[in-house]
Amino acid sequence: MMGPTHAAAGMLAAEIVLGASHAPPIYWPIGIALGAVAGIIPDIDHPSSFLNQRLPLGSTAGMALNHRHFTHSIVATILFSLYLRWLWPMVPEVLINAAVAGYFSHVLIDPLNPEGDQLLWPLPWMFSFSRILPYPLTFSTEDRMEIVIFRNALWLMVILTVVRPTLI
Ligand SMILES: [Zn+2]
Repeated sequence: MMGPTHAAAGMLAAEIVLGASHAPPIYWPIGIALGAVAGIIPDIDHPSSFLNQRLPLGSTAGMALNHRHFTHSIVATILFSLYLRWLWPMVPEVLINAAVAGYFSHVLIDPLNPEGDQLLWPLPWMFSFSRILPYPLTFSTEDRMEIVIFRNALWLMVILTVVRPTLI
């Protein structure tokens, strides 16, 4: 899955958390931005990802980690959550949860690709919905289904949720 798709999914996941938590309106822009950024973090393990190429330790992470393994797991999501709570102890809980939801959205939608991800790391299995769902419900990265349909559907839901928060 590509960066813009993950950013959109991260924003939508953050919106769901913000809406379900009845977060004050002032938190929404920050929470949605955190969800977008967190949504692209797991791909730091990919050499051509946005963060890998821009962060000082990005290329090191790319060399040390196998793509779609540790960073794409439930364990990594939990560690990310604990890290944020340690890093930002004064930040409201709902914003931390929005960021964690953004991160976890990445872990949840990558299995729509045949490569899947190592959801239960350190257990070795790669998890992919493509084993049980046919195309176009599952698709390859950069496939027209991702770029034209899935990503635009996510962006539409992101916009509709901001315009009409009662949708969640
Ligand atoms: Zn990924």
